[in-house]
Amino acid sequence: MFKQKNLIFIGAPGAGKGTISALVLAEQPLVHISTGDLLRDEIKRDTQLGREASTLMKAGKLVPDEVVAGMVRSRLSQPDCRKEGFILDGFPRTIRQAELLADALRELGTQLDRVVYLKVDDDLLLQRLTARQNCRKCGAIYNKIFQPSKQENICDKCGGELFQRPDDSLETAKSRLEVFYRQTQPLIDYYDKLGLLLTITETDKAKIMATLEKELA
Ligand code: AMP
Repeated sequence: MFKQKNLIFIGAPGAGKGTISALVLAEQPLVHISTGDLLRDEIKRDTQLGREASTLMKAGKLVPDEVVAGMVRSRLSQPDCRKEGFILDGFPRTIRQAELLADALRELGTQLDRVVYLKVDDDLLLQRLTARQNCRKCGAIYNKIFQPSKQENICDKCGGELFQRPDDSLETAKSRLEVFYRQTQPLIDYYDKLGLLLTITETDKAKIMATLEKELA
């Protein structure tokens, strides 16, 4: 069990933020806040926000800072986040978002414990992204090369259909990586200066978990 419970996971698309979050959540009841999932949910429900976000997401571009920060802020203000702690997965992605987050946490009377940076080489990121599959029903994440489902295109956990996210095509994946290096990379320095950064270069899931257990204890 971790003592440090208010966490950010930063990493390029395909770095394993979602996968590692799921492993942590299996051991500890933290609240998982993925802005990508929140936005995909808005698209599914065909809301105004979802329609606006959809075009940007398909192009691999970022949704405006104030929009995502607003979604995160309202989720963070619910009592379960205070009680259990939280993992922010895919947020913040810009310095502006980090500043908006700092304001929100200050107002809520809480603070970050650690920022975990999953650092992975580009070649591996692109391989992972373009072979990634998600379950339409339960959201489980697979990979055709590294972690295939037992039956092709069928989820092992719930039998749901597996699909490729539209933004995991090679072209969009490349522009998402470019956006990461341009807009999100500066956050690494930002959180390092605040003394909150934990960089993990390991790519093996069990070893990542062992590091987290040691460092966040
Ligand atoms: P993800 O599932 O985290 O890879 O996010 C998928 C897409 O959602 C991104 O490529 C962005 O278009 C959008 N998105 C997710 N989180 C953010 C964020 N914090 N700021 C801006 N856009 C975001």
